[in-house]
Amino acid sequence: MELDKRKIADILTKEIKQEQINIDEPMKKHTSFKIGGNADIFVKIHTIEELKYVIKISKIEEIPLTVIGNGSNILVRDNGIRGIVVKLEFNQIMIDGTVVTVGAGVKLGELGQRLLQKEITGFEFASGIPGTIGGAVRMNAGAYGGEMKDIIIETKCFDIEQYEKEIQEEKSSGTKCNKSKASEVIVLANEEQEFSYRHSIFMNKKYIILETTLQLEKGNAYDIRNKMQEYLYSRKEKQPVGMPSAGSTFKRGKDYITAKVIDECGLKGYHIGDAEVSNVHAGFIVNKGNATAKDVLGVVKHVQEVVYEKTKKSIELEVEIIGE
Ligand SMILES: Cc1cc2nc3c(=O)[nH]c(=O)nc-3n(C[C@H](O)[C@H](O)[C@H](O)COP(=O)(O)OP(=O)(O)OC[C@H]3O[C@@H](n4cnc5c(N)ncnc54)[C@H](O)[C@@H]3O)c2cc1C
Repeated sequence: MELDKRKIADILTKEIKQEQINIDEPMKKHTSFKIGGNADIFVKIHTIEELKYVIKISKIEEIPLTVIGNGSNILVRDNGIRGIVVKLEFNQIMIDGTVVTVGAGVKLGELGQRLLQKEITGFEFASGIPGTIGGAVRMNAGAYGGEMKDIIIETKCFDIEQYEKEIQEEKSSGTKCNKSKASEVIVLANEEQEFSYRHSIFMNKKYIILETTLQLEKGNAYDIRNKMQEYLYSRKEKQPVGMPSAGSTFKRGKDYITAKVIDECGLKGYHIGDAEVSNVHAGFIVNKGNATAKDVLGVVKHVQEVVYEKTKKSIELEVEIIGE
């Protein structure tokens, strides 16, 4: 049955401002690939209370809920995303000495600039990664020898399943419980987040990352700025920085560099429509203008098949595919 988007949006406006809610929102506006069909309902969230309300409505109305950050590691399919898409705008940065607590919606670049101002070092590796803290924790984002897992002390998140249980109990007992229960907001220590290369517990559990706390070090502005500029310059030289993409399309191999393998298979420049294996960096698929998700997925399939045929290596996607 077709979702009554207007009805759901009206229900949401009881607790969330209308200007935070959009119906039929083109996801190409929210992804670095600049690709993707419409989200039925797109909601910008500023507080935990708003987040709880959206989760509650999605549970009661039985509609799917998707969380995105800056959309820099996702490919949204051409028919878009059913249900509600939420983007967290938790933008607080709290600095206590070298311990830094950051909201899930903060962009890595913005945090990098704040840390530079405060002469705090240890986050330079993230220069040029266009994600938010939420996406970076989930992906255990990393570059130039650093990864999120190296600096995270703990992460605060919202346990959707726990909250859904409470809603269910409320429904069956007929009593209304609006109080926030401590159990749905949990704090996971670094070791509990099961980090490994581009992997974390957040891929297996229905947790929404709210904020993370980082342990960094005292540094000096000169060195921090130099390092950040060096990494940014290196990206500009080696990556198709000006073209829409989702970064490295594939994960690194255990004992090989995937981009090098793709290049050696002669796949640079291979394209379907406007989706192309970048001529600058074979690990990136770029959108040359009007690529569709179908075009990108066609290129992905071809690259995987040719690489397997020629090298017997199975290369895995790093980019996450969502929607229908
Ligand atoms: C030009 C370019 C260069 C890049 N370079 C690098 C690099 O060097 N290293 C690297 O690791 N990555 C790189 N990336 C990929 C990407 O930037 C990272 O993976 C980034 O961490 C994704 O963050 P995001 O906020 O954009 O997440 P999104 O792409 O929006 O989401 C990624 C996943 O995280 C989930 N998610 C987002 N926010 C939350 C939340 N609050 N709670 C729970 N789940 C959430 C989403 O549901 C999705 O599954 C690059 C991308 C581009 C376009």
